[in-house]
Amino acid sequence: NSAKGTPERWRRYESAMHEQAVRRMRLRTDLDQALATDAFVLHYQPIVDLATGRPHGFEALVRWQHPALGLVPPLEFIEIAEECGLIVPLGDWVMRHAIAAAVSLRSLYPAESLTMSVNVSVRQFRSPGFVQRVLTELAQADLPCGALTVEITESLLLGDDEHIHADLAALRAAGVRVSIDDFGTGYSSLSYLHRVAVDALKLDKSFVDTIGSSRRQYDLVRGIVQLARTLDLEVVAEGIETEAHRKRLADLHCGYGQGYLFTRPLPYAAAVEWLQATSEVSPAA
Ligand code: C2E
Ligand code: MG
Ligand code: MG
Ligand code: MG
Repeated sequence: NSAKGTPERWRRYESAMHEQAVRRMRLRTDLDQALATDAFVLHYQPIVDLATGRPHGFEALVRWQHPALGLVPPLEFIEIAEECGLIVPLGDWVMRHAIAAAVSLRSLYPAESLTMSVNVSVRQFRSPGFVQRVLTELAQADLPCGALTVEITESLLLGDDEHIHADLAALRAAGVRVSIDDFGTGYSSLSYLHRVAVDALKLDKSFVDTIGSSRRQYDLVRGIVQLARTLDLEVVAEGIETEAHRKRLADLHCGYGQGYLFTRPLPYAAAVEWLQATSEVSPAA
């Protein structure tokens, strides 16, 4: 089985695949140790009120500070953590640190109205005692439940599992907010929306990217925003990169947005600086 006659392009592809597989194996092996040594860090990306430009809250996004590989993005290890079950302790770590950050960020911001959004993966949400652990964490940190938004994905709702609906209801009964992340990418039918009690939709970046590309795309986004309003759901647009995106979304009365236009996700200290700079420009009433 020689490489003779194999197109160069294919060989390069194969070797890239190989490298990727090796890296993935390495991450899988090192994940245990990373949890034990506290090798994770949260970055915080602001969520902005599109009409006023004021900070609405932050989304906590985890990174892994790998001793040899540097800062590893979540898309490279969340799935691995899900596969091997480490997502549960990792998710608990994220929840605890995001809640602590929310407490201190809120003490800096005059209105004390900031929210903290935390991504929760399917296996983490389904882990026994998840809701109770979240509520205990909130009580211990003395953060009002309404300051926390749990971001779930449409895939969590797919099976129409009674336990999931009961847990979502329990979270919301306590005042925790629930948001559907990457809305519009995961599920072809909207019929589940009226059965699932959530507070907000995060309009996936793919819609934001193409909002200016055609009348049809624009109308689609307008339709989603209107649907959300009818169902009394907030909309947060993801991945706003240009002023044109922001303006179009604001004109459609999309309430909130996040994206590189405002800032990339920031380490805690830089998030504090961003918050201070932004609230000087537009102080809370
Ligand atoms: P997500 O929850 O949809 O988060 C938004 C992602 O889009 C983040 O990538 C963010 O950095 C990126 N983003 C924000 N604004 C822009 C923009 O204007 N342009 C572009 N190109 N990208 C933008 P990140 O931090 O790499 O996270 C990727 C995904 O990893 C997240 O997608 C989320 O699904 C997952 N994730 C991150 N942190 C956690 C966590 O603590 N737990 C779990 N279960 N998943 C997490
Ligand atoms: Mg998210
Ligand atoms: Mg998202
Ligand atoms: Mg996304």
